[in-house]
Amino acid sequence: MPMYVVGHKIPDSDSICGAIALAYLKNQIDEPAIATRLGALSPETRFILERFSIEAPVLKESYAGENVFIVDHSELTQAPDDINEATIVGIVDHHKLGDLTTATPLECWIRPVGCSNTVIKMMYDFHGISIPSNIAGIMLCAILSDTVIFKSPTCTTADIRCVEDLAKIAKIEDVNQLGMEMFNIKSAVMGTPVRELVMRDYKNFKMNEHLIGIGQLEVVDLSVFNDIKEELEADIALLKKEGEHHSVILLLTDIMKEGSELLIVSDDISLIEKAYGQKCENGRMWLDGVLSRKKQIIPQLQSVFS
Ligand code: MG
Ligand code: MG
Ligand code: MG
Repeated sequence: MPMYVVGHKIPDSDSICGAIALAYLKNQIDEPAIATRLGALSPETRFILERFSIEAPVLKESYAGENVFIVDHSELTQAPDDINEATIVGIVDHHKLGDLTTATPLECWIRPVGCSNTVIKMMYDFHGISIPSNIAGIMLCAILSDTVIFKSPTCTTADIRCVEDLAKIAKIEDVNQLGMEMFNIKSAVMGTPVRELVMRDYKNFKMNEHLIGIGQLEVVDLSVFNDIKEELEADIALLKKEGEHHSVILLLTDIMKEGSELLIVSDDISLIEKAYGQKCENGRMWLDGVLSRKKQIIPQLQSVFS
């Protein structure tokens, strides 16, 4: 029985490229694996797969009775809905440990680095398997995406070394240029339905029984949001109602100025203000130097909820 290798809901490039790269590795070591995904590809991920001529993983939402290797998270809220009826055979991740548990032993590769694909590269090295150049290309792009071209505080020397190795294999001379190409695609938000933007990189978290939704849009210039900011705010207010959230936050991240504007709807705005030590004005808050949801947004919020 093959295992399915799948990333989180609302998959990002790390989830998609990681599933492909890990499934390839598993097949090389005689552990049959199929890469799958839990949702649509983002424009950035589509660009990456086209650039390296790789097919998208198949869309598969139900995993009851199957073996599953989880990529890029360990959270129930981000896993397939029927994950409790599946067998988790492994997890490869770079986030805080979540609430997925297993009934059987599993293979666990979790490291505090900038991207799951950096950990997957360590798995290739561990098994002594060489990486095909097109797979090296998509792994490299996933790392550039997750680390915001090395600018994110989540980026480690392991990520930088990994990109150097992968660039040689994929024969990419200018990784910064490739990274900027990706982020320019990410920044093309005009004409996209507002809900699609809010959900593009959105995650739900359980914090002390409260449901918190946090989305993030990373762009090269925040002015792309000037005409649609109020629509985005109206939509996260709607989303909060629909999902019975305590709070919904949308991070508008400027990767050049290196900071994020938070759009916030909350049952208790003072908690959010306390988390970031900053006043919220009309549901908005600018956080200088904040690029990373996992390192600069979630832990601070979690601590005021506990
Ligand atoms: Mg991810
Ligand atoms: Mg990731
Ligand atoms: Mg990210």
